[in-house]
Amino acid sequence: MHNDSYDILIQGGGPVGLACAAWCLQKFPEAKIALLDRNPVDDADLAAADSRGIALSHGSKLLLDTIQAWPQDHAEIHQVHVSQAGRFGRALMTREELKQEALGHIVRYRDIHLALRKALRVIQIQTSNFNWQHIDDNTALSHIQGKCIVHAEGGLFKAQDWVESGRDYEQSALVGLVEVENATPHQAWERFTSEGPLAVLPSHYGPNILNLVWCGSPESSQERLQLSDADFLKSLQAKFGTRIGQFLKVQDRRLYALGLNYRKEIALKNEVWIGNAAQTLHPVAGQGLNLGLRDAYLLSEKLSALFSRSEEEKSPAAIEATLKDYAQSRKADRTATIGLTDFMARIFTSNLLPVVFARGLALSALQWLPPAKTALARQMMFGRR
Ligand SMILES: Cc1cc2nc3c(=O)[nH]c(=O)nc-3n(C[C@H](O)[C@H](O)[C@H](O)COP(=O)(O)OP(=O)(O)OC[C@H]3O[C@@H](n4cnc5c(N)ncnc54)[C@H](O)[C@@H]3O)c2cc1C
Repeated sequence: MHNDSYDILIQGGGPVGLACAAWCLQKFPEAKIALLDRNPVDDADLAAADSRGIALSHGSKLLLDTIQAWPQDHAEIHQVHVSQAGRFGRALMTREELKQEALGHIVRYRDIHLALRKALRVIQIQTSNFNWQHIDDNTALSHIQGKCIVHAEGGLFKAQDWVESGRDYEQSALVGLVEVENATPHQAWERFTSEGPLAVLPSHYGPNILNLVWCGSPESSQERLQLSDADFLKSLQAKFGTRIGQFLKVQDRRLYALGLNYRKEIALKNEVWIGNAAQTLHPVAGQGLNLGLRDAYLLSEKLSALFSRSEEEKSPAAIEATLKDYAQSRKADRTATIGLTDFMARIFTSNLLPVVFARGLALSALQWLPPAKTALARQMMFGRR
């Protein structure tokens, strides 16, 4: 159908917008939904797109499994080694002590994106009122109306056309793939340096090909981006040390500005904001997409319940009340995840001696106080329920 009036209008065909559409349709296949997607129709045109490794929690895997959108190419994390460069304090979290199959998974952004597009196409076959509209800057949209507007336009820090609450950490992330000599399979390393966290994460390419996320000042990150491969590897080796042997190769270096930008109100009348359109986080705790998927899932539960009711029950007041209820039920998880991420981004980059000392103690405490470790790991794996 190409009716121009929809119950739900989702703006943004990134992972969060796609997932929201898929869950709404899975729960209520008759839903009148339009999805405005700025990405190309053909998957082949996305093949060279964003290849950065994203850490997805076990909770996100369970959610994506419900729509068969778990990407084939992924790497499991069985243990995480946390340390700080040149200082005391380290912690090792293992899947055994947390009684989990995996502490998390690393998947490329584009593989998550493609898996969700595929899942939505499968679900689309069972629907009759869904319009997946690919658009560009010239597409006329004024005739497409939605009773409820879901903003899933996402975006990266500093590239968004809104700035509300938050913080500029004055950091950039340099991401890429590195090859090393001798990595422990399924292990992730997070090392806090004076400039920001440096993470080396497993990839599906094999134990010695790892995803790098190196946070530093915008200036030094830019310089690192421009170094020759040999000089880059030398400087990475100096920062990371030799615990996984020599760094042998690097490819696909890219830079991202980092900061926190979040909306205090995520629901206003008939509009609602989810994923990066609601909150854009520092990647230090690997939480942005995980939180966005939880947003999408919960919203789909509320919206499908509302729009499967009779016409009279879908009044503007009912829509507003449903979105308010959604915002209220996301409060605890959002506040905890934004707060934890902001805390980690600030505490782990400070060079003030008392902070350095406290952070060493915190890492040691994490190592020796299992309940603290379990609580942190649970928040990171499942969010606040
Ligand atoms: C370096 C880095 C590392 C990260 N690592 C992790 C990690 O380990 N774990 C984790 O959970 N998260 C991580 N994140 C965060 C994660 O990438 C985001 O949270 C996630 O991409 C948000 O998804 P989204 O769909 O909300 O937004 P996006 O991925 O930005 O997608 C939004 C989509 O909407 C489209 N769009 C924009 N405007 C419009 C419009 N007006 N109309 C229609 N469409 C529009 C865009 O083209 C895009 O396709 C990381 C981020 C960075 C920068």
